[in-house]
Amino acid sequence: MKRSWAEPWKVKMVEHLRVTTRAEREQAIADAGFNTFLLPSRLVYIDLLTDSGTSAMSDVQWAGLMRGDEAYAGSENFYRLEATVRKYYGYKHLIPTHQGRGAEHLLSRLCIREGQYVPGNMYFTTTKLHQELAGGRFVDVIVDEAQDPDNTHPFKGNCDLAKIQRLIDQVGAERVAYLSLETNVNMAGGQPCSLRNIRETCDLCHRHGIPVYLDATRAVENCYFIQQREPGCQSKPLDQILREICDCTDGCTMSAKKDALVNIGGFLALNDDQLAEQARNLVVVYEGLHTYGGLAGRDMEAMAIGIEESVHQEHMHSRIGQVQYLGKKLIEAGVPVVRPIGGHGIFLNAARFLPHVPREQFPAQALSAALYVDSGVRAMERGAVSAGRDKETGENLYPSLELVRLTIPRRVYTQAHMDVTAESVIDLYENRDKIVGLEFVHEPRYLRFFQARFRPASGDRVLRT
Ligand SMILES: *Cc1c(COP(=O)(O)O)cnc(C)c1O
Repeated sequence: MKRSWAEPWKVKMVEHLRVTTRAEREQAIADAGFNTFLLPSRLVYIDLLTDSGTSAMSDVQWAGLMRGDEAYAGSENFYRLEATVRKYYGYKHLIPTHQGRGAEHLLSRLCIREGQYVPGNMYFTTTKLHQELAGGRFVDVIVDEAQDPDNTHPFKGNCDLAKIQRLIDQVGAERVAYLSLETNVNMAGGQPCSLRNIRETCDLCHRHGIPVYLDATRAVENCYFIQQREPGCQSKPLDQILREICDCTDGCTMSAKKDALVNIGGFLALNDDQLAEQARNLVVVYEGLHTYGGLAGRDMEAMAIGIEESVHQEHMHSRIGQVQYLGKKLIEAGVPVVRPIGGHGIFLNAARFLPHVPREQFPAQALSAALYVDSGVRAMERGAVSAGRDKETGENLYPSLELVRLTIPRRVYTQAHMDVTAESVIDLYENRDKIVGLEFVHEPRYLRFFQARFRPASGDRVLRT
Protein backbone atom coordinates (compact mmCIF):
# COMPACT_ATOMS: atom_id res chain seq x y z
CA MET A 1 0.00 0.00 0.00
CA LYS A 2 1.26 3.47 -0.90
CA ARG A 3 1.58 5.71 2.14
CA SER A 4 0.56 9.38 2.21
CA TRP A 5 3.10 12.18 2.24
CA ALA A 6 2.97 12.75 6.02
CA GLU A 7 5.94 14.72 7.32
CA PRO A 8 9.03 12.89 8.67
CA TRP A 9 9.31 15.45 11.51
CA LYS A 10 7.26 16.96 14.33
CA VAL A 11 6.88 20.56 15.54
CA LYS A 12 9.10 21.72 18.42
CA MET A 13 8.42 25.46 18.43
CA VAL A 14 5.64 27.62 16.99
CA GLU A 15 5.63 31.12 15.53
CA HIS A 16 2.37 33.02 16.01
CA LEU A 17 0.56 34.47 13.01
CA ARG A 18 -1.74 37.46 13.01
CA VAL A 19 -5.18 37.10 11.44
CA THR A 20 -6.18 40.45 9.91
CA THR A 21 -9.59 41.80 8.87
CA ARG A 22 -10.52 42.36 5.26
CA ALA A 23 -10.59 46.16 5.86
CA GLU A 24 -7.02 46.00 7.20
CA ARG A 25 -5.90 44.02 4.18
CA GLU A 26 -7.56 46.40 1.71
CA GLN A 27 -5.67 49.28 3.31
CA ALA A 28 -2.42 47.30 3.40
CA ILE A 29 -2.47 46.29 -0.27
CA ALA A 30 -3.28 49.87 -1.34
CA ASP A 31 -0.38 51.13 0.82
CA ALA A 32 1.83 48.51 -0.86
CA GLY A 33 0.96 49.78 -4.35
CA PHE A 34 -0.86 46.49 -5.05
CA ASN A 35 2.50 44.71 -5.03
CA THR A 36 2.69 41.78 -2.59
CA PHE A 37 6.49 42.28 -2.34
CA LEU A 38 5.83 45.58 -0.56
CA LEU A 39 3.56 44.16 2.17
CA PRO A 40 4.98 43.96 5.70
CA SER A 41 5.03 40.28 6.69
CA ARG A 42 3.26 40.94 9.99
CA LEU A 43 0.11 41.64 7.92
CA VAL A 44 0.40 38.33 6.03
CA TYR A 45 -1.37 35.19 7.27
CA ILE A 46 -0.04 32.41 5.02
CA ASP A 47 3.09 33.53 3.23
CA LEU A 48 3.46 31.78 -0.13
CA LEU A 49 5.44 34.59 -1.73
CA THR A 50 8.46 32.39 -2.17
CA ASP A 51 10.19 29.23 -1.03
CA SER A 52 13.44 31.17 -0.98
CA GLY A 53 15.07 31.33 2.44
CA THR A 54 11.70 30.66 4.08
CA SER A 55 12.26 27.01 5.03
CA ALA A 56 12.21 25.84 8.64
CA MET A 57 15.64 24.65 9.70
CA SER A 58 15.92 21.40 11.63
CA ASP A 59 17.11 21.12 15.25
CA VAL A 60 20.35 19.72 13.84
CA GLN A 61 20.84 22.80 11.66
CA TRP A 62 20.10 25.12 14.61
CA ALA A 63 22.61 23.20 16.68
CA GLY A 64 25.07 23.61 13.80
CA LEU A 65 24.78 27.39 14.11
CA MET A 66 26.46 27.11 17.49
CA ARG A 67 29.45 25.50 15.82
CA GLY A 68 30.12 28.55 13.67
CA ASP A 69 33.82 29.23 13.33
CA GLU A 70 33.82 32.96 12.63
CA ALA A 71 37.47 33.20 11.64
CA TYR A 72 37.90 35.62 8.74
CA ALA A 73 40.00 33.12 6.81
CA GLY A 74 39.89 29.33 6.62
CA SER A 75 36.77 28.78 8.75
CA GLU A 76 36.24 25.16 9.77
CA ASN A 77 32.70 25.42 8.40
CA PHE A 78 34.03 26.27 4.94
CA TYR A 79 35.96 23.00 4.78
CA ARG A 80 32.92 21.08 5.98
CA LEU A 81 30.78 22.73 3.30
CA GLU A 82 33.40 22.16 0.62
CA ALA A 83 33.52 18.44 1.47
CA THR A 84 29.71 18.24 1.46
CA VAL A 85 29.37 19.94 -1.93
CA ARG A 86 32.06 17.63 -3.33
CA LYS A 87 30.25 14.60 -1.98
CA TYR A 88 26.71 15.43 -3.09
CA TYR A 89 27.20 17.70 -6.13
CA GLY A 90 30.59 16.32 -7.11
CA TYR A 91 32.31 19.53 -8.28
CA LYS A 92 35.93 20.08 -7.43
CA HIS A 93 35.97 23.74 -6.41
CA LEU A 94 33.56 25.56 -4.10
CA ILE A 95 33.22 29.34 -3.97
CA PRO A 96 30.59 30.36 -1.40
CA THR A 97 28.41 33.41 -2.14
CA HIS A 98 25.80 35.28 -0.11
CA GLN A 99 23.01 33.79 -2.27
CA GLY A 100 22.33 32.48 -5.77
CA ARG A 101 22.59 35.75 -7.64
CA GLY A 102 26.04 36.35 -6.17
CA ALA A 103 27.19 33.17 -7.91
CA GLU A 104 25.36 34.16 -11.13
CA HIS A 105 27.13 37.50 -11.08
CA LEU A 106 30.57 35.88 -10.84
CA LEU A 107 29.88 33.24 -13.49
CA SER A 108 28.40 35.78 -15.93
CA ARG A 109 31.33 38.18 -15.53
CA LEU A 110 33.90 35.45 -15.97
CA CYS A 111 32.37 33.54 -18.85
CA ILE A 112 30.43 35.98 -21.05
CA ARG A 113 32.01 38.34 -23.55
CA GLU A 114 30.10 41.31 -25.05
CA GLY A 115 27.71 40.13 -27.77
CA GLN A 116 27.83 36.43 -26.89
CA TYR A 117 24.71 34.29 -26.62
CA VAL A 118 23.61 32.36 -23.54
CA PRO A 119 21.01 29.70 -24.27
CA GLY A 120 18.93 28.46 -21.36
CA ASN A 121 15.81 26.40 -20.65
CA MET A 122 13.54 29.37 -19.96
CA TYR A 123 14.80 32.52 -18.31
CA PHE A 124 15.07 33.16 -14.60
CA THR A 125 14.87 36.81 -13.52
CA THR A 126 18.24 37.27 -11.76
CA THR A 127 20.07 34.80 -14.00
CA LYS A 128 19.06 36.57 -17.20
CA LEU A 129 19.76 40.02 -15.79
CA HIS A 130 23.33 39.10 -14.82
CA GLN A 131 23.89 37.58 -18.24
CA GLU A 132 22.67 40.80 -19.88
CA LEU A 133 24.70 43.05 -17.59
CA ALA A 134 27.78 41.06 -18.63
CA GLY A 135 26.98 41.79 -22.31
CA GLY A 136 25.26 38.50 -23.11
CA ARG A 137 22.04 37.74 -24.92
CA PHE A 138 19.70 35.13 -23.49
CA VAL A 139 18.10 32.66 -25.93
CA ASP A 140 15.28 30.40 -24.75
CA VAL A 141 15.83 26.77 -25.77
CA ILE A 142 13.18 25.11 -23.60
CA VAL A 143 10.80 22.63 -25.28
CA ASP A 144 7.59 24.14 -26.69
CA GLU A 145 5.50 22.08 -24.26
CA ALA A 146 6.71 24.36 -21.44
CA GLN A 147 4.84 27.31 -22.94
CA ASP A 148 1.50 25.51 -22.73
CA PRO A 149 0.08 25.46 -19.19
CA ASP A 150 -2.28 22.58 -20.04
CA ASN A 151 0.25 20.26 -21.64
CA THR A 152 0.95 17.41 -19.22
CA HIS A 153 4.35 16.34 -20.59
CA PRO A 154 6.26 14.80 -17.61
CA PHE A 155 9.49 16.75 -18.32
CA LYS A 156 8.47 20.25 -19.40
CA GLY A 157 11.82 21.61 -18.23
CA ASN A 158 13.70 19.78 -21.01
CA CYS A 159 15.91 21.58 -23.51
CA ASP A 160 14.95 21.36 -27.18
CA LEU A 161 18.08 19.97 -28.85
CA ALA A 162 17.01 21.29 -32.24
CA LYS A 163 16.79 24.83 -30.85
CA ILE A 164 20.31 24.55 -29.43
CA GLN A 165 21.64 23.18 -32.73
CA ARG A 166 19.91 25.97 -34.66
CA LEU A 167 21.51 28.63 -32.47
CA ILE A 168 24.95 27.06 -32.93
CA ASP A 169 24.43 26.91 -36.71
CA GLN A 170 23.24 30.52 -36.85
CA VAL A 171 25.81 32.29 -34.68
CA GLY A 172 28.69 29.80 -34.44
CA ALA A 173 29.76 27.85 -31.36
CA GLU A 174 32.42 30.43 -30.45
CA ARG A 175 29.71 33.04 -29.91
CA VAL A 176 27.85 30.84 -27.43
CA ALA A 177 29.30 31.60 -23.98
CA TYR A 178 27.78 28.57 -22.26
CA LEU A 179 24.44 26.86 -21.82
CA SER A 180 22.62 27.67 -18.62
CA LEU A 181 20.71 24.56 -17.56
CA GLU A 182 18.08 25.03 -14.89
CA THR A 183 16.70 22.06 -12.99
CA ASN A 184 13.03 22.07 -11.99
CA VAL A 185 12.45 25.16 -14.09
CA ASN A 186 10.98 27.83 -11.84
CA MET A 187 9.27 30.10 -14.38
CA ALA A 188 7.75 27.14 -16.23
CA GLY A 189 5.98 26.07 -13.04
CA GLY A 190 8.66 24.04 -11.26
CA GLN A 191 8.93 21.59 -14.17
CA PRO A 192 11.71 18.98 -14.25
CA CYS A 193 14.23 17.92 -16.88
CA SER A 194 14.79 14.24 -17.55
CA LEU A 195 18.19 12.71 -16.89
CA ARG A 196 18.26 11.62 -20.49
CA ASN A 197 17.63 15.13 -21.78
CA ILE A 198 20.29 16.56 -19.47
CA ARG A 199 22.80 14.02 -20.82
CA GLU A 200 21.89 14.70 -24.45
CA THR A 201 21.99 18.47 -23.94
CA CYS A 202 25.44 18.28 -22.34
CA ASP A 203 26.73 15.92 -25.07
CA LEU A 204 25.55 18.27 -27.81
CA CYS A 205 27.12 21.33 -26.19
CA HIS A 206 30.36 19.59 -25.33
CA ARG A 207 30.75 18.32 -28.90
CA HIS A 208 30.87 21.99 -29.91
CA GLY A 209 33.17 22.99 -27.06
CA ILE A 210 30.37 24.84 -25.22
CA PRO A 211 30.39 24.43 -21.43
CA VAL A 212 27.17 23.72 -19.52
CA TYR A 213 26.55 25.34 -16.15
CA LEU A 214 23.76 24.03 -14.02
CA ASP A 215 21.40 26.25 -12.06
CA ALA A 216 21.24 23.68 -9.26
CA THR A 217 18.88 25.68 -7.06
CA ARG A 218 16.15 23.01 -7.18
CA ALA A 219 18.18 20.09 -8.51
CA VAL A 220 17.16 17.70 -5.72
CA GLU A 221 13.45 18.37 -6.34
CA ASN A 222 14.18 17.59 -10.00
CA CYS A 223 15.85 14.33 -8.90
CA TYR A 224 12.63 13.32 -7.12
CA PHE A 225 10.64 13.71 -10.35
CA ILE A 226 13.26 11.76 -12.30
CA GLN A 227 12.98 8.97 -9.74
CA GLN A 228 9.17 8.98 -9.93
CA ARG A 229 8.77 9.40 -13.69
CA GLU A 230 11.81 8.36 -15.71
CA PRO A 231 12.06 4.75 -16.85
CA GLY A 232 14.97 2.96 -15.18
CA CYS A 233 15.35 5.46 -12.33
CA GLN A 234 12.80 4.15 -9.79
CA SER A 235 15.32 2.35 -7.62
CA LYS A 236 18.00 5.03 -7.67
CA PRO A 237 18.43 7.06 -4.48
CA LEU A 238 18.15 10.86 -4.83
CA ASP A 239 21.82 11.49 -4.07
CA GLN A 240 22.86 9.14 -6.87
CA ILE A 241 20.63 10.92 -9.41
CA LEU A 242 22.01 14.26 -8.22
CA ARG A 243 25.57 13.12 -8.92
CA GLU A 244 24.57 11.79 -12.33
CA ILE A 245 23.14 15.21 -13.24
CA CYS A 246 26.09 17.19 -11.92
CA ASP A 247 28.66 14.84 -13.44
CA CYS A 248 27.54 15.78 -16.98
CA THR A 249 27.99 19.51 -16.36
CA ASP A 250 30.98 21.81 -15.89
CA GLY A 251 29.84 23.56 -12.74
CA CYS A 252 26.84 25.14 -11.09
CA THR A 253 25.36 28.20 -9.48
CA MET A 254 23.24 27.50 -6.44
CA SER A 255 20.80 29.36 -4.27
CA ALA A 256 20.96 27.32 -1.07
CA LYS A 257 17.84 29.18 0.08
CA LYS A 258 15.74 26.58 -1.76
CA ASP A 259 16.75 22.87 -1.81
CA ALA A 260 19.41 23.29 0.88
CA LEU A 261 16.98 24.41 3.61
CA VAL A 262 18.78 27.53 4.83
CA ASN A 263 17.63 31.11 5.25
CA ILE A 264 20.62 32.59 3.41
CA GLY A 265 23.49 31.29 1.32
CA GLY A 266 24.59 30.07 -2.08
CA PHE A 267 27.62 28.98 -4.02
CA LEU A 268 29.42 28.71 -7.30
CA ALA A 269 30.97 25.30 -7.92
CA LEU A 270 33.38 24.57 -10.76
CA ASN A 271 35.56 21.78 -12.12
CA ASP A 272 38.02 23.86 -14.13
CA ASP A 273 41.08 24.83 -12.05
CA GLN A 274 41.85 28.04 -13.92
CA LEU A 275 38.29 29.32 -13.93
CA ALA A 276 37.99 28.53 -10.23
CA GLU A 277 41.14 30.55 -9.58
CA GLN A 278 39.61 33.52 -11.41
CA ALA A 279 36.34 33.11 -9.49
CA ARG A 280 38.22 33.04 -6.16
CA ASN A 281 39.84 36.27 -7.16
CA LEU A 282 36.59 37.95 -8.22
CA VAL A 283 34.60 36.81 -5.18
CA VAL A 284 36.86 38.92 -2.95
CA VAL A 285 35.73 42.03 -4.82
CA TYR A 286 31.98 41.46 -4.57
CA GLU A 287 31.16 38.98 -1.80
CA GLY A 288 34.05 38.39 0.61
CA LEU A 289 37.09 36.19 1.01
CA HIS A 290 36.90 32.88 -0.92
CA THR A 291 36.40 30.89 2.29
CA TYR A 292 33.23 32.74 3.31
CA GLY A 293 31.83 34.62 0.30
CA GLY A 294 29.57 36.94 2.29
CA LEU A 295 28.38 34.28 4.74
CA ALA A 296 28.99 33.80 8.44
CA GLY A 297 30.72 30.54 9.40
CA ARG A 298 27.50 29.38 11.07
CA ASP A 299 25.56 29.91 7.81
CA MET A 300 27.96 27.60 5.97
CA GLU A 301 27.56 24.96 8.70
CA ALA A 302 23.74 25.11 8.44
CA MET A 303 24.04 24.85 4.66
CA ALA A 304 26.24 21.75 4.82
CA ILE A 305 23.71 20.06 7.11
CA GLY A 306 20.80 21.27 4.94
CA ILE A 307 22.35 19.71 1.83
CA GLU A 308 22.53 16.34 3.63
CA GLU A 309 18.90 16.62 4.75
CA SER A 310 17.70 17.70 1.30
CA VAL A 311 18.48 14.34 -0.31
CA HIS A 312 16.58 12.25 2.25
CA GLN A 313 13.84 10.34 0.47
CA GLU A 314 11.18 10.90 3.15
CA HIS A 315 11.87 14.64 3.25
CA MET A 316 11.45 15.08 -0.49
CA HIS A 317 8.43 12.77 -0.58
CA SER A 318 6.55 14.96 1.91
CA ARG A 319 7.86 18.24 0.45
CA ILE A 320 6.58 17.46 -3.04
CA GLY A 321 3.57 15.61 -1.59
CA GLN A 322 2.33 18.76 0.12
CA VAL A 323 2.62 20.78 -3.10
CA GLN A 324 0.75 18.06 -5.02
CA TYR A 325 -1.96 17.99 -2.32
CA LEU A 326 -2.77 21.68 -2.81
CA GLY A 327 -2.57 21.36 -6.58
CA LYS A 328 -4.98 18.43 -6.65
CA LYS A 329 -7.58 20.37 -4.65
CA LEU A 330 -7.47 23.27 -7.11
CA ILE A 331 -7.58 21.03 -10.17
CA GLU A 332 -10.59 19.18 -8.76
CA ALA A 333 -12.39 22.53 -8.31
CA GLY A 334 -11.72 23.45 -11.95
CA VAL A 335 -9.27 26.27 -11.21
CA PRO A 336 -6.89 26.82 -14.17
CA VAL A 337 -3.38 25.89 -12.99
CA VAL A 338 -0.19 24.90 -14.76
CA ARG A 339 -0.05 21.12 -15.11
CA PRO A 340 1.54 18.85 -14.19
CA ILE A 341 1.84 20.34 -10.68
CA GLY A 342 5.50 21.25 -10.21
CA GLY A 343 7.91 20.85 -7.34
CA HIS A 344 7.86 24.05 -5.34
CA GLY A 345 4.47 25.59 -5.85
CA ILE A 346 1.17 25.92 -7.65
CA PHE A 347 1.07 28.26 -10.60
CA LEU A 348 -2.36 29.74 -11.30
CA ASN A 349 -2.95 30.47 -14.97
CA ALA A 350 -4.00 34.10 -14.49
CA ALA A 351 -4.66 34.69 -18.18
CA ARG A 352 -7.38 32.03 -18.08
CA PHE A 353 -8.47 32.84 -14.53
CA LEU A 354 -9.20 36.48 -15.52
CA PRO A 355 -10.12 36.52 -19.23
CA HIS A 356 -11.74 39.95 -18.76
CA VAL A 357 -8.44 41.58 -17.69
CA PRO A 358 -6.23 42.45 -20.72
CA ARG A 359 -2.50 41.54 -20.61
CA GLU A 360 -1.65 45.28 -20.46
CA GLN A 361 -3.45 45.39 -17.10
CA PHE A 362 -1.34 42.57 -15.64
CA PRO A 363 -3.87 39.88 -14.69
CA ALA A 364 -1.37 37.96 -12.55
CA GLN A 365 -0.43 41.06 -10.56
CA ALA A 366 -4.13 41.80 -10.00
CA LEU A 367 -4.91 38.22 -8.98
CA SER A 368 -2.13 38.07 -6.39
CA ALA A 369 -3.34 41.38 -4.89
CA ALA A 370 -6.95 40.12 -4.81
CA LEU A 371 -5.90 36.85 -3.13
CA TYR A 372 -4.24 38.83 -0.35
CA VAL A 373 -7.37 40.95 0.16
CA ASP A 374 -9.55 37.85 0.29
CA SER A 375 -7.60 35.76 2.82
CA GLY A 376 -4.23 37.24 3.76
CA VAL A 377 -2.47 34.62 1.60
CA ARG A 378 0.55 36.18 -0.08
CA ALA A 379 1.50 34.96 -3.58
CA MET A 380 3.71 36.35 -6.34
CA GLU A 381 3.24 37.51 -9.92
CA ARG A 382 5.19 35.51 -12.53
CA GLY A 383 4.10 37.04 -15.81
CA ALA A 384 4.60 40.26 -17.75
CA VAL A 385 5.65 42.34 -14.74
CA SER A 386 8.41 39.83 -13.92
CA ALA A 387 9.47 39.58 -17.58
CA GLY A 388 10.25 43.33 -17.79
CA ARG A 389 11.06 45.12 -21.01
CA ASP A 390 12.96 44.12 -24.13
CA LYS A 391 16.64 45.03 -23.75
CA GLU A 392 16.79 46.54 -27.25
CA THR A 393 13.34 48.03 -27.97
CA GLY A 394 12.26 48.96 -24.44
CA GLU A 395 8.82 47.47 -25.09
CA ASN A 396 6.97 45.44 -22.44
CA LEU A 397 7.61 41.71 -22.87
CA TYR A 398 4.51 39.55 -22.76
CA PRO A 399 5.67 35.97 -22.07
CA SER A 400 3.34 33.15 -23.06
CA LEU A 401 2.82 32.33 -19.38
CA GLU A 402 0.97 34.84 -17.17
CA LEU A 403 1.03 33.15 -13.78
CA VAL A 404 0.51 33.63 -10.06
CA ARG A 405 2.87 31.50 -8.01
CA LEU A 406 1.76 30.01 -4.69
CA THR A 407 5.15 28.88 -3.44
CA ILE A 408 5.28 26.46 -0.55
CA PRO A 409 8.06 26.99 2.01
CA ARG A 410 9.67 23.72 3.16
CA ARG A 411 8.60 22.25 6.52
CA VAL A 412 6.64 25.39 7.52
CA TYR A 413 2.89 25.11 6.89
CA THR A 414 0.35 22.41 7.70
CA GLN A 415 -2.23 20.61 5.62
CA ALA A 416 -4.93 22.88 7.14
CA HIS A 417 -3.02 25.94 5.84
CA MET A 418 -3.16 24.34 2.39
CA ASP A 419 -6.92 23.84 2.82
CA VAL A 420 -7.48 27.52 3.69
CA THR A 421 -5.40 28.55 0.69
CA ALA A 422 -7.41 26.30 -1.62
CA GLU A 423 -10.72 27.64 -0.23
CA SER A 424 -9.66 31.22 -0.88
CA VAL A 425 -8.44 30.56 -4.44
CA ILE A 426 -11.62 28.63 -5.27
CA ASP A 427 -13.80 31.43 -3.82
CA LEU A 428 -11.96 33.98 -5.92
CA TYR A 429 -12.35 31.85 -9.01
CA GLU A 430 -16.10 31.74 -8.46
CA ASN A 431 -16.11 35.55 -8.06
CA ARG A 432 -13.46 36.31 -10.67
CA ASP A 433 -15.53 39.00 -12.40
CA LYS A 434 -15.01 41.17 -9.29
CA ILE A 435 -11.23 41.36 -9.86
CA VAL A 436 -9.98 44.59 -11.51
CA GLY A 437 -6.79 45.02 -13.62
CA LEU A 438 -3.87 47.26 -12.61
CA GLU A 439 -1.66 49.94 -14.18
CA PHE A 440 1.85 51.11 -13.30
CA VAL A 441 2.36 54.08 -11.01
CA HIS A 442 6.08 53.47 -10.47
CA GLU A 443 8.34 51.23 -12.55
CA PRO A 444 11.91 50.53 -11.37
CA ARG A 445 14.63 49.93 -13.96
CA TYR A 446 15.99 46.55 -12.82
CA LEU A 447 13.90 43.53 -11.74
CA ARG A 448 10.87 45.81 -11.63
CA PHE A 449 8.54 43.25 -10.05
CA PHE A 450 10.23 43.63 -6.67
CA GLN A 451 9.50 47.32 -6.14
CA ALA A 452 6.90 48.40 -8.73
CA ARG A 453 3.74 50.21 -7.60
CA PHE A 454 0.32 50.02 -9.26
CA ARG A 455 -3.23 51.36 -9.06
CA PRO A 456 -6.50 49.74 -10.13
CA ALA A 457 -7.39 50.47 -13.76
CA SER A 458 -10.82 51.59 -12.55
CA GLY A 459 -12.13 52.50 -9.10
CA ASP A 460 -9.83 52.18 -6.09
CA ARG A 461 -10.13 48.47 -5.28
CA VAL A 462 -8.57 45.40 -6.86
CA LEU A 463 -11.38 43.20 -5.52
CA ARG A 464 -14.83 44.75 -5.78
CA THR A 465 -17.39 43.80 -3.13
C1 LIG B 1 16.01 31.86 -6.40
C2 LIG B 1 16.64 31.48 -7.67
C3 LIG B 1 17.83 32.09 -8.11
C4 LIG B 1 18.47 33.26 -7.40
O1 LIG B 1 18.88 32.94 -6.13
P1 LIG B 1 18.87 34.00 -4.93
O2 LIG B 1 19.38 33.20 -3.80
O3 LIG B 1 17.46 34.48 -4.76
O4 LIG B 1 19.79 35.12 -5.31
C5 LIG B 1 18.39 31.63 -9.29
N1 LIG B 1 17.82 30.66 -10.01
C6 LIG B 1 16.67 30.07 -9.63
C7 LIG B 1 16.07 29.00 -10.45
C8 LIG B 1 16.03 30.47 -8.45
O5 LIG B 1 14.88 29.91 -8.10
